[in-house]
Amino acid sequence: MSLGLNKVLIERFSRQIILKNIGTIGQKKILNSKVLIIGAGGLGCSVAEFLTRAGVGTIGIIDYDLVNLSNIHRQSLYDEKDLKKFKVKAAQEKLKLINSKTKINIYKHKINNKNFSKIIKNYEYIVDGSDNFETKFLINDFSLKFKKILIIGAISKFDGQIFSFNFLKKSSPCLRCFYQEEKISNDILNCEFEGVLGTVAGIVGTMQANEVLKQILKIGQNLNGFILILDLLNLNFRKIRLIKRKKCLCN
Ligand SMILES: [Zn+2]
Repeated sequence: MSLGLNKVLIERFSRQIILKNIGTIGQKKILNSKVLIIGAGGLGCSVAEFLTRAGVGTIGIIDYDLVNLSNIHRQSLYDEKDLKKFKVKAAQEKLKLINSKTKINIYKHKINNKNFSKIIKNYEYIVDGSDNFETKFLINDFSLKFKKILIIGAISKFDGQIFSFNFLKKSSPCLRCFYQEEKISNDILNCEFEGVLGTVAGIVGTMQANEVLKQILKIGQNLNGFILILDLLNLNFRKIRLIKRKKCLCN
């Protein structure tokens, strides 16, 4: 039973189509999904790579940076030939080689209130792979406004954090419920100062991609309203429920 998927697609995705709770119906959901990724760094590369391999139909990537040598230890879409190229361009080229059928839209800018509202409208799932809180709050606020499903990632040293919010539900908390202080130092997430192990970026990015696929397929237990904290040095993983704050933007 192909249900409209051609032979090549059936073969390409056979190892996940065979899974009971995916099947051809699930694969079609993946093929029709639209995911926006902010940041084409360590997290964004892994997210984009695995979603492209899984067959996500449309992926948008926003980033204004160039590839430099210190990126390559963790940013899995780039190699030495990509140095000095725009990350979004190099990422698009690499992703096209992986799966030529996925539509990759690239946006070569630093996001702000104006450009982000135009972009976000075209996507259902929003994945944050940015490296600073200013951007994370902006993504949070717009995902809330436009009622999107948002999966935030953060990494530093040997640690990772993943937040997930379903803003289609009014009861959802948001990032501001958790970080009540807006003046959090941006250095916390800046690996230029703090450092980060490359594998930490790969693990957290891949987990974000995993959460996106589960949300598309509506399978398993999602992370909505929780934060998952990963200490990858000592292998302690904690999942904490976020409390919706009364005086927050999300009310
Ligand atoms: Zn909130």
